[in-house]
Amino acid sequence: MNLNLHNIPANISNTNSEPVKVVILGSGPAGFSAALYAARAELQPLVLTGMELGGQAALTYTIENYPGFPEGVGGAQLGELFQKQAEKFGAKIEFETATAVDLSVKPFRVMTYDREFLAESLIIATGASPNHLNVVGEKELTGRGVSYCATCDGWFFKDKKVVVVGGGDSALEEALFLTRYASGVHIVHRRNELRAGAILQKRAMENPKIHFIWDSVVDQILGSEKVEAVQLKNVKNGEVSHFDTDGVFIFIGHTPNTQMFQGQLELDQNGYIITNMNMETSVDGVFAAGEVMDSHFRQVVTSAGMGAAAGIQATKYLENQEETKTTQAA
Ligand SMILES: Cc1cc2nc3c(=O)[nH]c(=O)nc-3n(C[C@H](O)[C@H](O)[C@H](O)COP(=O)(O)OP(=O)(O)OC[C@H]3O[C@@H](n4cnc5c(N)ncnc54)[C@H](O)[C@@H]3O)c2cc1C
Repeated sequence: MNLNLHNIPANISNTNSEPVKVVILGSGPAGFSAALYAARAELQPLVLTGMELGGQAALTYTIENYPGFPEGVGGAQLGELFQKQAEKFGAKIEFETATAVDLSVKPFRVMTYDREFLAESLIIATGASPNHLNVVGEKELTGRGVSYCATCDGWFFKDKKVVVVGGGDSALEEALFLTRYASGVHIVHRRNELRAGAILQKRAMENPKIHFIWDSVVDQILGSEKVEAVQLKNVKNGEVSHFDTDGVFIFIGHTPNTQMFQGQLELDQNGYIITNMNMETSVDGVFAAGEVMDSHFRQVVTSAGMGAAAGIQATKYLENQEETKTTQAA
């Protein structure tokens, strides 16, 4: 395996010489749940938050499918509650972003822009980012009609008209899901044929609520307070038109945040970290949880569950290490 160590700075001044028992990368539902479990095992885990405190969930206005909140809960508020609960049991939070890791040595080395941490075990919960269209209006109207998750936000579009962007399996699955709520689902696709599997295509084509806008891209999302329309561009003849809609669901893939692990951990063909059921990666003592290894469920509750499992397994791993040391010393 070729190690991807090229971005490790040569001289980091601020090295914590004492290894931390558990370092957790990421402060989303998976990271904070892992921290809660490791903290309750009295391991005083260290969470490096990355740039998005609370993770993707914090970007959404209301979460209505996380159990325990019958009235729903604000995404940012849920993140704060996760953090508070982990801290209550001794988790330490650092507002740092890991820039490189060295998993070929023990303790593992985790570098940030100007510090280095040594970790006896590592839990990676750096998530995945939905691919963006990068068009005018997208960022401003995210959470106000622009969404990357039909399971999460479909309910808000009861009897409304929505646009879905994409032509792969996930776009069609999500479009079919949206037909439960929306009065019409209009799939905008840049080609005149879909990439999705045959069965999904058949289901979508046969669904009376689904309509296709072929050979077209969304090149602007329009609206002041919320989404009101999209500007479409026909890629064949360049024609530009406006299409009124209440929502825009973008499903053009996800990119897992795993670049720095390339060459050090086994990743699948799409870059997701490969783990077993115990959240163990290809390196002993390194665990992964949440969307960084799960391209299927992509929910707060499932990511939190995987984070909890990683926290439990890291605890077991450290206990085994201790036992081995004691046996060897005896
Ligand atoms: C707009 C939107 C709305 C959503 N709504 C819902 C909903 O209503 N219900 C639901 O169940 N799900 C919803 N989801 C999905 C849900 O948010 C995710 O499934 C969940 O947040 C994934 O959790 P995670 O901890 O695996 O990763 P993330 O939430 O993606 O968290 C990743 C964390 O890793 C950190 N990180 C990244 N790189 C580094 C690094 N190099 N060093 C340190 N830290 C790093 C980030 O700062 C972040 O804190 C929504 C997603 C989006 C985008």
